[in-house]
Amino acid sequence: MKLDQSVKDYGEKFKKEYSLLRRAIRRYDRIVVYRHSKPDYDAMGTQMGLVTFLKDNFPNKEIHFVGDNHVTFTPRLFPVTEKLPDSFFADPFMAIVVDVGDTDRIADPRFQKAKYVAKMDHHPCKEQIARHPIVDLGAAAASEIVVDFCLNWKGASLSKEAARYFYIGLVGDSGRFMYSSTTAHTFAIAQGLIATGISISDIYLEMYEKKIDDLKVTAYVLNHFAVSPHGVAYYCLPAKVQEELKITSEQGKTNVNLFSNIAGINAWCSITEDPNPKDWCWRVSIRSKKADISPIAFKWGGGGHAQASGARIKDLTELDAFIKDLDDMFA
Ligand code: AMP
Repeated sequence: MKLDQSVKDYGEKFKKEYSLLRRAIRRYDRIVVYRHSKPDYDAMGTQMGLVTFLKDNFPNKEIHFVGDNHVTFTPRLFPVTEKLPDSFFADPFMAIVVDVGDTDRIADPRFQKAKYVAKMDHHPCKEQIARHPIVDLGAAAASEIVVDFCLNWKGASLSKEAARYFYIGLVGDSGRFMYSSTTAHTFAIAQGLIATGISISDIYLEMYEKKIDDLKVTAYVLNHFAVSPHGVAYYCLPAKVQEELKITSEQGKTNVNLFSNIAGINAWCSITEDPNPKDWCWRVSIRSKKADISPIAFKWGGGGHAQASGARIKDLTELDAFIKDLDDMFA
């Protein structure tokens, strides 16, 4: 396939890193692909796209994927994650970490036992886990970077199956190509994926089809949201309500974008109680129209991107202070 100029330019920018990564992939017979815990479309799509690409091009290598499953994505969109025994990690292997910046968010800590760690990501990160990381904070999705790497690999082939996974990641993290992180390069990557023959209408159906019961959750959100003085819309889903609605906290956040196109709403959040907390209780998903909300997410124990970030609060006594921090951005 003829490469788009933006893909060629990207390949030139990461020429050294791509070459080192190809060399490492060729060298190791056992490779494990990692992503972040509490996965989203991009985390799982990028992970499974890369696993499939590697299996297709290196059928004699052992390629694995690990991490927690998603309550509705697996096995509907992605295969159930493998459970690798500790004994697997005793022999040399390569770890490829995708779509995650901070070490404590990597879904399986055993990447630390790898002889070689590679990383492809679009999150800001304080720690350096790979010697030659391939990181582009401006990429709309981790999938955008990994597909670029695949397309720039001369002689390697991108199958329809791998492209389907990658496309899910690209669409998921770019908000269906709506977020400002979407660039000409993002579309060039989409073009490369569509050229494999995937049906994007089938993929959208698989990703976004809802059940009648999902409408009850939407109804609850529409009846219980609040808006701060300067246009921060938010809704809370306590564990008890999740139980009544028969949803998990992961499912609870999927209504957050109900507020994305409302005049006067500058940012919006879902605040869902985690029924199995370790050291924190409520997960917050924050989205914004234009403002960079990631510093607020960072302040509140999370991080992410300018228009889509995640944070956490201990309990609802912290809610007002959290919303005020966001609200002050628009005062
Ligand atoms: P979410 O609201 O969970 O869909 O997350 C939105 C974006 O923020 C995704 O790119 C996540 O990877 C990122 N994110 C969510 N939670 C955190 C966190 N605790 N630390 C860093 N990034 C996060």
